[in-house]
Amino acid sequence: MMRVMTSNAVKTRFAPSPTGKLHLGNLRTALFNVLLARRDGGHFLLRIEDSDLARNDASAFDAIAADLRWLGLDWDEGPGIGAPQDWQQSARAEVYTSAADKLLAADAAYWCFCSQQRLAELRAEQTRQGKAPRYDGCCASLPRREADDRRAAGEPAVLRLRMPQSGMLEFNDLVRGQQTVPADALGDPVIQRADGTAAFLFANALDDGLMGVTHVLRGEDHLSNTPRQQVLLRQLGLTAPAYGHLSLVTDEAGAPLSKRSGSAGIAELHAAGYRPEAVLNYLARLGNAGLDEQLHDLDGLARAFEPSRLARSPARFDRSQLDHWQSLAMAQADMASLLPALTADCLPADRRESLVALVQPNIRFAHELNDWAQRLFADELELSADAVAAIRSRDAEFFGQIDQALLEASGEIDWQVWRPRLEALTGCKGGKLMKPLRFALTGLGHGPALGAVINLMVPETRRTRLQRAAAMAGEADDA
Ligand code: GLU
Repeated sequence: MMRVMTSNAVKTRFAPSPTGKLHLGNLRTALFNVLLARRDGGHFLLRIEDSDLARNDASAFDAIAADLRWLGLDWDEGPGIGAPQDWQQSARAEVYTSAADKLLAADAAYWCFCSQQRLAELRAEQTRQGKAPRYDGCCASLPRREADDRRAAGEPAVLRLRMPQSGMLEFNDLVRGQQTVPADALGDPVIQRADGTAAFLFANALDDGLMGVTHVLRGEDHLSNTPRQQVLLRQLGLTAPAYGHLSLVTDEAGAPLSKRSGSAGIAELHAAGYRPEAVLNYLARLGNAGLDEQLHDLDGLARAFEPSRLARSPARFDRSQLDHWQSLAMAQADMASLLPALTADCLPADRRESLVALVQPNIRFAHELNDWAQRLFADELELSADAVAAIRSRDAEFFGQIDQALLEASGEIDWQVWRPRLEALTGCKGGKLMKPLRFALTGLGHGPALGAVINLMVPETRRTRLQRAAAMAGEADDA
């Protein structure tokens, strides 16, 4: 649903390059931008950064949209809304060319003819001297006319932005606080490639400026781009957004997640049965200690979101934490979202909802409903060695007495009344009654309240299982 954006309201964005599957770190970035927009009643833009045509992967575009939609991270502007020129960089070439022309005309940018070989040698020499590689400004003072002549003669050239040569570049990072970089530490970056396409740094900043983005939360790998992008936007008379840089997310072994590995991709989690609200609640807390322990929807997560409280050190993906949120999400899931997963046909139609309600607190994934359906309704029940041992800890009479008593019960039993009754009848109290009975009926030593299990089961199935248990217990007696 489109929310109304108030004037001077916050606008955040997620700007993936469609070069592969999104990983959980990318999705956390998207989520944090959504939360910031929601918290402040703003808008969220999904911009597809596909200006580097050679690296695009057509299927990645659809996968990105599908992943975000599955998580409920809907966008107010982006694919499916308005014209591609509003959100897709490959449709905006003219915008970039005209801004590049403007910078050139103002002498804020210059043509650079340095060959790849010269640049490689320069980098190698700087590295040898222990310096950080940066462009040395070799072409910065070429007269414009000479540059134009060389281009007209067909010599390839990139366009570079002139960075200030002295002083400090400062900005206040939304996550990391005050940042200061000496201007001369940064070389003049390429803003237009030799083939005329806009370089990432240029298209990315320009679009933020032109699209009215007010806040950008993005990966820390872009931290060093920020001062350059701020200079760029200033030269174009555009307002730069406030930037915040998020720490990396690593895999369980501590290695950075990569788009190529796809190890913890959303599609995999979806297929494994994770619920979107579990993934969202997990991601919202990854490197973010500022939230309580409750399962929240996006608005609830947004209310407590504060970028300055985000961690500055890497956050590690932790499957057990994700599973914790999955269990919480499962316990709170509504019936309608669970029923479609119950595909086993061994239970009567009128008991489907009661089964879901009964076992919901005991399962982590919806497909486990089918295991419970089998366990409580199938003709055959497989018994583990533990089950057999528990059953054989009682005698045939124990199961026979319970079977007989239940046979005489009319309708549902009240376990408060029936438990003491069965204890008196069998002479077995507490675990001595419950454990073998539970194993005999369900094949498991744990599960939902035993009285409720007894009530849910079909009486004939219940009988068959008690009689089988009696026979097994009897066999043990004879042995
Ligand atoms: N397209 C860039 C990326 O995928 C976006 C960087 C940014 O968020 O500014 O890394």
